[in-house]
Amino acid sequence: MDPRLAVVTPGAGRAADVIIIGGGVTGTAAAWWLTQRGVRDVVLLERGTVGCGGTGKSSGIVRCHYGVPSLAAMAWKGLLLLENAAAVLGDDAGFRPVGYLVGVGPENVAALHANLAMQQSLGIETAAVGPDVAGSLWPAADCSDFAVFGYEPRGGYGDPYRTAQAFAAAARRGGAQIRQGSAAVAVRHSGGRVTGVMLADGTVQAAGTVVLAAGPWSVALAAPLGIGLPIQVCREQILLVAPGRELGSVPVLSDLVNLQYIRTEPSGELLCGNSDLHTLELADPDDYRNSADPGTVETAAAKLARRFPGLPDAAVASSYAGCYDVTPDFNPVISLTGVAGLVVAAGFSGHGFKISPAVGELIADLVCTGSSNDPAVPDRDFRLGRFAEDDPLASPHPYAGAGQLR
Ligand SMILES: Cc1cc2nc3c(=O)[nH]c(=O)nc-3n(C[C@H](O)[C@H](O)[C@H](O)COP(=O)(O)OP(=O)(O)OC[C@H]3O[C@@H](n4cnc5c(N)ncnc54)[C@H](O)[C@@H]3O)c2cc1C
Repeated sequence: MDPRLAVVTPGAGRAADVIIIGGGVTGTAAAWWLTQRGVRDVVLLERGTVGCGGTGKSSGIVRCHYGVPSLAAMAWKGLLLLENAAAVLGDDAGFRPVGYLVGVGPENVAALHANLAMQQSLGIETAAVGPDVAGSLWPAADCSDFAVFGYEPRGGYGDPYRTAQAFAAAARRGGAQIRQGSAAVAVRHSGGRVTGVMLADGTVQAAGTVVLAAGPWSVALAAPLGIGLPIQVCREQILLVAPGRELGSVPVLSDLVNLQYIRTEPSGELLCGNSDLHTLELADPDDYRNSADPGTVETAAAKLARRFPGLPDAAVASSYAGCYDVTPDFNPVISLTGVAGLVVAAGFSGHGFKISPAVGELIADLVCTGSSNDPAVPDRDFRLGRFAEDDPLASPHPYAGAGQLR
């Protein structure tokens, strides 16, 4: 066993090998992966219920279309697991492979081709298609202002809440304890290393390794250890639109001309989100307006009307909002820290669902061996230190107008 796992400090109750704080897709995937690695004494602390944070609000889009190679590799690994979730996790977790289309205007054609070439070099099934092909996949859409699309026939959307439940159930079967209603109030440390976690009821659970996977709430738990996480919280609004007629199976559409994404719901409604992240609306993750603003509804509805002339009777049916935990480069921190035994996995910046299976694996690697075991996913990319070093993780071929799409 790795020495970091062997260092435990006596406290109330038996010492765990690893405590995970946070029961979203990140924490539950990490719990499952750790049990897969043979770490049996894993305790996951979730202050509410599994999936009640950003995971429960997620649009669940599954695409491998990234400009950063390590993220594309993680998304591909994520897709393979989601496709095989029934066999691997014991639950299909709700993945729907309806396909994924990303469309760009003339200014982004070169970037799209460069990104597709990189993705293909990783073995990802993706190809450039023209507006004619996209239009045949999405007959109600007007695709004439797109120059070219990337098309992933194996992409689609998943159910992040169910995925977190599936990871948690599989982790339990592997011996992990998933403790819901158990809020961590402080990470305990001594002599520069983690010793355990204090819970809201005043008890201390001892452990030599703590994984901080508490989404936007990670910042306040890391700060007392002298670890500054550069994570801002921003509110994102989602609309559910009654399309006015049966659409059948249409691919997820990432519209980088109008900066909007659209996918169907199992109910037949359209889920519609925003891809314009130029201006962030900072929010309190414990106190934010959980419905769309009238101005947002108006803007989104106008974009939808332009994009879907074939849906004249479409109407907004309902809305809600969720929070992104955003870092300066819109990419996560998955990193060892200056406090021995503390691993941070937070700041997923609105794209943490699809990569969560690979994130859980990377966390398990960091815990068990101190580095990534997958050369396609170098842990260096996700290190916390990159912000202080002014070495952000960014796509070499960003999209003009949509640079935050990583
Ligand atoms: C509106 C929206 C749309 C999105 N769409 C997509 C998408 O289409 N595709 C995609 O890949 N990603 C998407 N994402 C991003 C993705 O959903 C998130 O990155 C991912 O779910 C984050 O998971 P997490 O486990 O890191 O955080 P969370 O799900 O937020 O989990 C953190 C957990 O920590 C718990 N916690 C907090 N404090 C404590 C404490 N003190 N003690 C114990 N537990 C604590 C919380 O209760 C919470 O359950 C979207 C996110 C949002 C909000």
